Amino acid sequence: EPVVSLSGVGKTFSNGTMALDNLNLDVFPGEFLSLLGPSGCGKSTALRLMAGLGRATCGEVSIVRHDPGEHRGDIGFVFQEPTLMPWATVADNVWLPLRLKGVSRAKADPVIRDSLALVGLAAFAGAYPRELSGGMKMRVSIARALATKPSILLMDEPFAALDEITRFRLNDDLLRLKAELGCTVVFVTHSVYESVYMSSRIVVMAARPGRVVSTIEVDAPMPRG
Ligand code: ADP
Ligand code: ADP
Repeated sequence: EPVVSLSGVGKTFSNGTMALDNLNLDVFPGEFLSLLGPSGCGKSTALRLMAGLGRATCGEVSIVRHDPGEHRGDIGFVFQEPTLMPWATVADNVWLPLRLKGVSRAKADPVIRDSLALVGLAAFAGAYPRELSGGMKMRVSIARALATKPSILLMDEPFAALDEITRFRLNDDLLRLKAELGCTVVFVTHSVYESVYMSSRIVVMAARPGRVVSTIEVDAPMPRG
C-alpha cells in the first residue's frame, strides 16, 4: 500500500504553464524512489505536491500518515539550495522545524544532537553556516529535515550544486542514512548516474507536460566502501 499517491494529477500555474498532466505515481513504504527527467518536466512540482506545498489543479494527492500516536509520520523536505539561516548556528538551524512545532530549544537539544550525529556533524553544532563547506551545509539541511523524524524524506536535486567528489560522498552518506532510519525517500534528479546508483526504483518523466514515460526497477543499492 502506497504512502504517497498521485492519481490523475494535473498542475497548471496561474501564468498558464502546464507543469503536470495526468500524472499517476505511487510511492511505497521503504523504497528509494528517484524521479528522473530533464529540467522543466515537472519533477519539482510533483515533489512539492507530495509535500503539501501547493495544490494540484486536478486529480488527487494522498499522503498516508503514520499513527498519530507514533512520533513519526512527518515529511522532511530537502531543497536544492541548503537555505540555512546565516545568522543562526548549525544547531539552531536544525532546531527550526521543531521550533515551528513549539518545541523549546532545551527540549529539542537531544534531537538536534542526534540529527547532527547522523550526518557526521556533531562537532559543528555551534558553528555558523559560513564556516562550512558546501557539502557540510547540505548535510546540515538534511539533519534539519531529519529533526522531526520524518517517515518520508523528499529531496529536490539536493546535490546538484556540489562538486562531483562531494556529491559521490553524499550519495553514500544518504544510502547509509536511509538504511539506518528505514525511511522512504523520493529523490528528484536529472542525473542518470545518481538515480541508478541510489534508487530501488526510477520513475522516468518525459519533457513537459510532466508525465511518466517508464518505470525501472533497480537492484538493491549498496554504498561503496
Ligand atoms: P523540474 O523540477 O522537472 O525542472 P518544475 O516542476 O520545476 O520542473 O517545472 C515544470 C514547469 O513548470 C516548468 O516549465 C517551469 O518553468 C514551470 N513552473 C514551475 N514553477 C512555476 C511557477 N511557480 N509558476 C509558473 N511556472 C512554474
Ligand atoms: P564535504 O564532503 O562535507 O563537503 P569537504 O571535503 O568539502 O567535506 O570538507 C571541507 C573541509 O571540512 C575539509 O577540511 C574536511 O576535512 C572538513 N570536514 C568536513 N566534514 C567534517 C567533519 N564531519 N568533521 C571534521 N571536519 C570535517
